[in-house]
Amino acid sequence: MAYKINGKLRGLKPYVPTQEITGVIHLDANESFLNLTPQLIQDAADAVQNTAFNRYPDPYAADLCQAFGNYYGVNATHVTAGNGSDELISLLISNFLMKGETIVTTAPDFSMYTFYPKLAETNDVEAVKGNSFSITPQKLIDTVKKSNARMLLFSNPCNPTSLGFTREEVVQIIESLPDVLTVVDEAYMDFWEQTQSVLGLESRYDNLVILKTCSKMGLAALRLGFSVSNEKLTGLLHSAKSPYNVNSLTQEIGALVLGEKKCLQSHIKQIQQSRDSLLHGIEEILFRYPGAFQLYRSCTNFVTFRFPEAEQLYTYLMECGISARQFPGFLRITAGAPAENQAFLAVMESFFHKKSTLEKGG
Ligand SMILES: *Cc1c(COP(=O)(O)O)cnc(C)c1O
Repeated sequence: MAYKINGKLRGLKPYVPTQEITGVIHLDANESFLNLTPQLIQDAADAVQNTAFNRYPDPYAADLCQAFGNYYGVNATHVTAGNGSDELISLLISNFLMKGETIVTTAPDFSMYTFYPKLAETNDVEAVKGNSFSITPQKLIDTVKKSNARMLLFSNPCNPTSLGFTREEVVQIIESLPDVLTVVDEAYMDFWEQTQSVLGLESRYDNLVILKTCSKMGLAALRLGFSVSNEKLTGLLHSAKSPYNVNSLTQEIGALVLGEKKCLQSHIKQIQQSRDSLLHGIEEILFRYPGAFQLYRSCTNFVTFRFPEAEQLYTYLMECGISARQFPGFLRITAGAPAENQAFLAVMESFFHKKSTLEKGG
């Protein structure tokens, strides 16, 4: 007799990051192209000096949640810190759903939304977006009702489409589904407008959880994410999580950086400017090669365009030392440093130039 691996683990593949590949311009992971300022790195080093390494961290990360609350203007008693928002997504799916219950996600959306439901042995129903990459709130609501789902999870603005529901639309969804837990992942809201965020509405709805992450604003290395929900849901999350999920260094450095609102906002502004110039550069290529691909506006830190030969362009970019993220029939490019955007645009231009020369020749 041999030990037999269970069905849900069989066929599972490890996540493959591209970070290991050196000498490549990384425009694939939606990271910030800006590291912390030298002053903040010094402050972080000082915090490390003063850490009690022999002691467990604060299980509820009180100071950190207070710093997050101050930054976004939410009540710290509504906040749960996680080891990245990834941990909180996993926690929500495995604890707020019973085995066999249904979660609705949208497609395309963040890849982890379909990964965790499989491990939790729940049913995942996808509300599929059309060619425009959008879905009406009503269609989403209908899908949830028809499938008797207990949870709805989507990113807003959406990764990888770069588009967002307005706050009014999200409120319509929450209010139309009072017996469904709606989880709104606002990982990219900082790059859009705070007026579109549903932060603050958690005290009005007992079926709302909002997710945030520090990864996209330049703290990906720390592994730090947050959920915001009313006191009852927050209490349940605190009870269901593993006790010391956020380590002391992340708590101290996270609180310190969130306290430097001006600095973070200046970085976010630079990322928005990079996104706009990347979008503009791609628009110019589209102008020279009309109809070559379909470009979407972006309210995130990346640009997405639909293109039947996305895989070829992806491979060509890799050969030229640039990593993008490819999906079936479309590509996602993270806004990088100005020189990185320029390098990407030059390769993209060269791809379409070659392609059009070939087509004219043949
Ligand atoms: C990047 C991303 C996350 C992951 O956040 P971590 O805090 O790094 O785990 C969550 N949701 C979406 C939609 C993302 O794109």
